[in-house]
Amino acid sequence: MKQLALLGATGSIGDSVCAIVRKHPERFGFFAMSAHSNWQKALQLAIEFKPRHLIITEHQAHQALQTESLPSGTQLHWGGDVLNGVVAEPEVDLVVAAIVGSAGMASVMAAVAAGKTLLLANKESIVSAGALVMPLAKEKGAQIIPLDSEHNAVFQCLPDGYQTGHRPKQVKHITLTASGGPFWSKPMTEFASITPGQAVAHPKWDMGAKISVDSATLMNKGLEVIEAHWLFDLGEQDIDVVVHPQSTIHSLVHYVDGSVLAQLGSPDMQIPISYGLGLRDRLENEGAFLDLLALSRLDFHEPDTEKFPCLRLAREAIQAGGTLPAVLNAANEVSVAAFLEGQMGFMEIPSVNESLMMQYGAVPVTSLEQLQALDAEVRAAAQKLIGKKN
Ligand code: NDP
Ligand code: MG
Repeated sequence: MKQLALLGATGSIGDSVCAIVRKHPERFGFFAMSAHSNWQKALQLAIEFKPRHLIITEHQAHQALQTESLPSGTQLHWGGDVLNGVVAEPEVDLVVAAIVGSAGMASVMAAVAAGKTLLLANKESIVSAGALVMPLAKEKGAQIIPLDSEHNAVFQCLPDGYQTGHRPKQVKHITLTASGGPFWSKPMTEFASITPGQAVAHPKWDMGAKISVDSATLMNKGLEVIEAHWLFDLGEQDIDVVVHPQSTIHSLVHYVDGSVLAQLGSPDMQIPISYGLGLRDRLENEGAFLDLLALSRLDFHEPDTEKFPCLRLAREAIQAGGTLPAVLNAANEVSVAAFLEGQMGFMEIPSVNESLMMQYGAVPVTSLEQLQALDAEVRAAAQKLIGKKN
C-alpha cells in the first residue's frame, strides 16, 4: 500500500486523485492532505479518508475547523512550515503536488530535498523554480513524474526507465498539443468583451479557475513549454506547440529515425494521474475508453501568437532564462486573479505580464528565498500597475 501526501486535496486535481484512491483502496492510503481555504471540504475528505495529518495553510480556515469533528486518528495542523516537514516524513511514499501557483514552490522543493517520488501537477513551481528543483532532484535521487496531461503523454512515450530531468536519448523534438481554449476561433475584435464566466468555461477539460483562464490566453501552453524544458531537458526550440481542438492526442515525441509516438485518450485527468500513481503500472479505469469512430477526425493548427501573446512571452522568458520565467509566472497569477475579479479585461492579461517582464528582466536563480522574495515583489508591482490602469 502506497502512502500519499496530497497537497491541494480540495482542488480539481485533488478530486481526481481522491476518485482514483476510492477505486483502488487496496493500493493507496493518505498519510497527509493539505487544503488552503476550503476547510469544509477538507473536513469531509478527512472524515472519508482518515489521513494521519491534515494541514490547513490559511489561518482563518484553520481557526474555523473544529478539531473535535475530525476522525480520532487525524492530527490538524496550520501552515506551510508543517506542510514542508510532513512531505519529508519517512512514511510518505508519493507526494502529489496539486497546489495552484507558486504557493506550491516550497513544498515541491521540500519533497525533492527529501528524495521523494513527486507526482507533479503544480506546473507554476517548476516554471519558477526549475533551475533549483531539477538539479536538487538529481542530487537527491528524487523521481519527478508529470501529471500535466501533455507532459505525462511525453513521459508515456519515452522508454521505460527514463528519468525526468535528463534529455531523452534519440529524441529529435516533442510536440505539445493545446486545445486552443474557448476563444480559439473567436475574432480578436470581440476579445475586449470576454467575461470571466466565458473564460473559465473550457470546451474540453473541467479544471480550476486559474488554469482555465490560462488555457483561454494560451499562457497555460506557454507555462507548459517551460515545464517541458525543465522536465525533459529540451531547448525551447525543441518543443513545438500545435492547436488540436479535439484534445485527444495529448502530446507527441519525434524520434531521430522519423518515428513519432503519441499518447491518446479521453480528456480525463484520471488517466494521466493514475499512470503517475501506478508508477507506470496501468490501473483499471472504467469508462475512460476512447471511441475512435465517434471521434472520426483529428485537426491541427498553428497557434496564433498575435491573438494569444502569452505563448510568445513564455518562449521569450525561457530564452532569457534566470528569473524571468518566475517574473512572468508571478505577474500572470496576479493578472488572472484581477481578471477573474472583474478588475481588468481579458486582453490586459498579456500586456500586464509583458510590462512586468520588461520591468524586472532576468538575473541568475540562486535560492528559493530569492525566488520567494522576487515573487512577492512582482506581485506587488503587478497589483500597483493594475490599480493605476483602473
Ligand atoms: P484548483 O484551484 O482547483 O485547486 C487548487 C488547490 O490549491 C486547492 O486545494 C487550494 O486549496 C490549494 N491552494 C490554493 N491557494 C493555495 C495557497 N496559497 N497555499 C496552499 N494551497 C493553496 O486548481 P487545480 O486543481 O485545477 O490545479 C492545481 C494545479 O494543477 C495547478 O498548478 C494547475 O496548473 C495544475 N493542473 C491542473 C489540471 C486540471 O485539470 N485541473 C491539469 C493540469 C495541471 P483551497 O481550495 O482549500 O483554497
Ligand atoms: Mg496541460
